[in-house]
Amino acid sequence: MKKEKAVVVFSGGQDSTTCLFWAMERFSEVEAVTFNYGQRHKLELECAADIAKELTIKHHILDMSLLNQLAPNALTRDEIAIEQKEGELPSTFVDGRNLLFLSFAAVLAKQLGAKHIVTGVCETDFSGYPDCRDIFVKSLNVTLNLSMDYPFVIDTPLMWLNKAETWELADSLGAFEFVREKTLTCYNGMIADGCGECPACKLRKKGLDDYLAKGIRGVKR
Ligand code: ZN
Repeated sequence: MKKEKAVVVFSGGQDSTTCLFWAMERFSEVEAVTFNYGQRHKLELECAADIAKELTIKHHILDMSLLNQLAPNALTRDEIAIEQKEGELPSTFVDGRNLLFLSFAAVLAKQLGAKHIVTGVCETDFSGYPDCRDIFVKSLNVTLNLSMDYPFVIDTPLMWLNKAETWELADSLGAFEFVREKTLTCYNGMIADGCGECPACKLRKKGLDDYLAKGIRGVKR
């Protein structure tokens, strides 16, 4: 384990919770930051807070309601349906969201004396979010270092994993059950396996089924 401090960008979902376990295994000190941007379900914030508490991780919640004002979308407005039309970004997209989240996480990380910023962005299940791409994260990493004259390292443990491999990573970290039972991915605000109907639940379930089909669940690696 590195004697270093990390800040995990944390939503209480499957991906960022897996990142939290990943960071806890790697770094001597880990704190989490969650952004409040008027998510449809307050439960998402509560879920993140509960997980942080259970894992005794110091949890920072930053108000980002400005983002909601700038980019009303399906994650923040009940009247907008979650959908994706062919050739278009899904209605869950918020322009600049990761740019802003990672920038604010970096300001916080520097204040906390943390060098590492861990984020669960992923290019493999790329839904067309430009600021989830590896090249963007690398570019922003350089910009953040220059802007604050500080040696940030943005870690993206899920960048090249598909959803089944993300379950595999959680399992290898001893966190399979925790992630399955305590995280919130569902757009309808239902914890664990969720509603089973929304796009987030379907994606999560497919990854889980694919992983379980490999037959390596719980096998020590
Ligand atoms: Zn759902």
